[in-house]
Amino acid sequence: MVVDAGHGGHDPGAHGPTGVREKDVTLAISRRLVDLLNAEPGMRGVLTRSDDRFLGLRQRMERARSANANLFISIHADAAFNRSAQGSTVYVLSEKAASDEASRRLAARENAALIGGVELGDKDPVLASVLMDLSQNASISSSIAVGDAILGRMVGLGRLHRRTVQQAPFMVLKSPDVPSVLIETAYISNPADEQDLRSPAHQDALARAILDGARNYFAANPPGNPVSRPPTTVAAAGSFRERAARPALARQHVIRRGDTLSGVASLYRVSLSSLRAANRLRSDIVWVGQRLRIPREDT
Ligand SMILES: [Zn+2]
Repeated sequence: MVVDAGHGGHDPGAHGPTGVREKDVTLAISRRLVDLLNAEPGMRGVLTRSDDRFLGLRQRMERARSANANLFISIHADAAFNRSAQGSTVYVLSEKAASDEASRRLAARENAALIGGVELGDKDPVLASVLMDLSQNASISSSIAVGDAILGRMVGLGRLHRRTVQQAPFMVLKSPDVPSVLIETAYISNPADEQDLRSPAHQDALARAILDGARNYFAANPPGNPVSRPPTTVAAAGSFRERAARPALARQHVIRRGDTLSGVASLYRVSLSSLRAANRLRSDIVWVGQRLRIPREDT
């Protein structure tokens, strides 16, 4: 897991009413989180920066890919002109930004290297775009699931600015094959939040909440399981409607927010009972990130 301390060097980020700087609190929280991760059996934390230096957004993403991370967490603090704004917000990439980024990368042939373990360089453009889409959809689903798990632990710390995972076009979240979450830990522009952010006890509590959320996510989606590691096979390719329209590829569906079992059944034109049977489901409850096998027999 790669932990990214936001800002640094000549970019101080936001600052609070008494002068606390975002780049300093993000580094303190990130260091604490990495120490906790490295004390945890089976987990490993790597910092994008361990001191007060500037890193570009793409350099930060590149650290996650070169470390072969299965999770990227970028730590920030929010600021607003309205000083009463306070609390934490968790962001993942928006689908629109993901597809814009995919188009840009494809246009630039930037990822002739690897996307989700698949070499794109020699693929025809349609297949390359399907593979890119697949990887980003899986990453966003996984990112939302991680974000939900982290919010579930941060709620115990007190203030949340937003109670659900938000989606936004943040550049640093655009790795197509690494689930990525950006956490605005608090509003540094709010006097009470600023004091919390500078307090080692609160920094520790934030780091522990993020660790616990990540641990809960990995317990439900063990690394190596394709839900936590975006899929690498064509069998799982494509956006949801696109996949349904391609029977040869329509083997699996990853549940996203708002999906229902009956909705998935009708999307793929299979009966609810065969979908239940194929996945050995005893109820129609589904959860974000859940991977459903789509039966073929009654298409
Ligand atoms: Zn920031």
